[in-house]
Amino acid sequence: MSQDHSIQREEQLRKIREQRRFKNDPQKLFEGLRDGHIDALSKAITLVESSRHEDHELAASLLEKAIPFSGNAWRIGITGVPGVGKSTFIETFGKALTSKGHRVAVLAVDPSSQRSGGSILGDKTRMDELSKDENAFIRPSPAADSLGGVARSTRESIILCEAAGFDVILVETVGVGQSETTVYGMVDYFLLLMLAGAGDELQGIKRGIMEMADGILITKADGENAKACIKAKRQYMAALHLYPPSDKGWSPKVETCSALENTGISEFIDQLDAYFQTVKEHGWLEEHRKEQDLEWFHSALRYEILSRFIQPTLLTETEELVRAGKLSPFVAARQLALKVGK
Ligand code: GDP
Repeated sequence: MSQDHSIQREEQLRKIREQRRFKNDPQKLFEGLRDGHIDALSKAITLVESSRHEDHELAASLLEKAIPFSGNAWRIGITGVPGVGKSTFIETFGKALTSKGHRVAVLAVDPSSQRSGGSILGDKTRMDELSKDENAFIRPSPAADSLGGVARSTRESIILCEAAGFDVILVETVGVGQSETTVYGMVDYFLLLMLAGAGDELQGIKRGIMEMADGILITKADGENAKACIKAKRQYMAALHLYPPSDKGWSPKVETCSALENTGISEFIDQLDAYFQTVKEHGWLEEHRKEQDLEWFHSALRYEILSRFIQPTLLTETEELVRAGKLSPFVAARQLALKVGK
């Protein structure tokens, strides 16, 4: 065996030993993640992602312990179409944050991901430098399930990362589906990455997403593209003026950046500082988190009821009937609910 192989093997064995050490024991997992063991955090997230019933109890007990240690991080959603530069941006932005002493967790929500096929987001190889940074943690997207999609466990993962001492949580998603609305409901600041010189339709960005943004960054503002980015910045600023002001004392900002040349990144961190100061002063952050807790309660309740009382196959079959137009959504919901009530 070559030396490289034996080092790899040793590393694999170490991981297996660590995983066994924390094996599905909520107290051990909790202590492990509080002590900064990344393996414990990974294992804890796997537990909250699990759709197995026996894991739910363990996950709930773990979350109970973690919640009192959560809530102090910046929760930031990042969206934009594939190719806009999300992973390159997160790499540069993440490194800038860790160099300022922050600990950064990157969670991905990718509705198209399947565990077998690997994920296109949050992929460690896409954030090579950041994944080697000991103050960063990158978690690829969980597999989608029929009971609420991939985003179901993301809230729980945020809590676990915070309890593990991460003070900036980046939730990355593709801005083309439903997932960004779900992510918006979990974060404090929503960042939209846009390309210059492409119309909104071209970028596949739905109108509502612009409205959700607390900030827009026009990416790849370098070389010959720099001028077009400044023009795009003016256009987006004009477009944002059309939206009514929000109740949090903050008006959305539009800036340009280049992740490759590391420009506009530290200014963006300053912007976040200003944002969090403003929304805290307005009392918005606290209120917002309370509302998010209520949403969390509702979605967790839906999940509990669906997963406990409705057979997954029955749910999928009914979904198919609704999709095919053979059953109206309302009648389908009633039929299933009556089955539960029996
Ligand atoms: P994602 O699909 O949104 O994650 O986009 P990527 O981060 O993978 O970037 C897509 C492409 O844009 C890659 O070829 C990157 O090298 C390139 N890119 C990303 N950021 C920049 C930038 O700041 N400047 C330039 N010129 N290219 C960039």
